[in-house]
Amino acid sequence: MRIATFQHQGRRQVGLVAADGSSVTPLAFTAEEAARGALAVVDLASVGRALPPAAGPALPLAEVRLEAPIPRPRRNVWCVGRNYHAHAKELRETVFKNSNADPQAWPIVFTKVPECVIAPGAPVRLPGAAVSTQIDYEAELAVVIGRGGRNIGRAEAMSHVWGYTIVNDVTARDVQMRHQQWDLGKSFDTFCPMGPWIVTADELDGTDTRVRCWVNGELRQDARTPDLIFDLPTLIETCSRGITLLPGDVIATGTPAGVGMGLNPPVWLRHGDTVRIEIDGIGVLENPVIDA
Ligand code: MG
Repeated sequence: MRIATFQHQGRRQVGLVAADGSSVTPLAFTAEEAARGALAVVDLASVGRALPPAAGPALPLAEVRLEAPIPRPRRNVWCVGRNYHAHAKELRETVFKNSNADPQAWPIVFTKVPECVIAPGAPVRLPGAAVSTQIDYEAELAVVIGRGGRNIGRAEAMSHVWGYTIVNDVTARDVQMRHQQWDLGKSFDTFCPMGPWIVTADELDGTDTRVRCWVNGELRQDARTPDLIFDLPTLIETCSRGITLLPGDVIATGTPAGVGMGLNPPVWLRHGDTVRIEIDGIGVLENPVIDA
C-alpha cells in the first residue's frame, strides 16, 4: 500500500494511492483520526486491525494537495549521521581532513523536532544570514516503525518496519558544526520535508533501493542503501536500546555522498533553488528553497 495524507476541499484526509500514482482513494476516518495523518493507519496496523472502508471515489492526485504523510510526528524524528561509506569518505576528504577520527563503532544518532516537518512542494525557508549562511540538503530513506518495542534485536528488527518514506534532512552546517550535538542545526522551521507518501514494507525492500537527489536538475547524490555503514536492522536495534520505539516513529537513515558541504568549494542552498529527491519504489519529494 501507499498511504498519503492530503488536503481536499479544505480538510485533511488519509488515503490509498493507486499503483500508477494517478489517484488517491480517501479512507473513512473521522476528522479527528485524519488529523493525525498516516499515524491513524499505523496505529491500526500496529495492533492488527483492518483499515476503514473507502470514504468515496478515487480523487485524481492533481486535485489534492499532498501533505507530509505524518504531518506532525508524535515526537522527534530520529536521524542517523554519516552513514554511507561514500559520504563518510567525502567528509574525511573535505571538512574533516585534518581530523584523524576513526570511523565510529556506533551510529551517530540525533533528532529533529516534529514541528520542522513540511509537505512535498512546501518551501524550505532560509533563516537569514544572521542565523545561518550554510544551508544544505540531505536525501534520506526514512523508516516508519509499525509495532513498537524496546531492545529489539537485529533478527526481528525488520518485522517492526511498517513502511518507508523520503526525508530531506535539511541542515544548517555552520550551526551543526559549532555545537557538540546536532539537533539545533537540523531542526530549523521547515527543515524536514517528508513524503510524498509512505510505502508499506511488503512493497519495498528498503535494504536495497536507490536514493538520488538533484538540485536545480543537477544530479548531486546517487547511491544504493547497501552502501549504508550501519544497516536498517542495526539502526533499529540501536535506537531501541533501553528506549521503547513507538508506532509511527520515523528513523531517517543517513544521506549519501554528494551534499553541498562535500563539494569543493562547498555550495549552499540559495533562494530559488529546487531540491528533488527520488527513491526507487517510493517516489519523488521536491521542495523549493526561498528566503524566509
Ligand atoms: Mg542526515
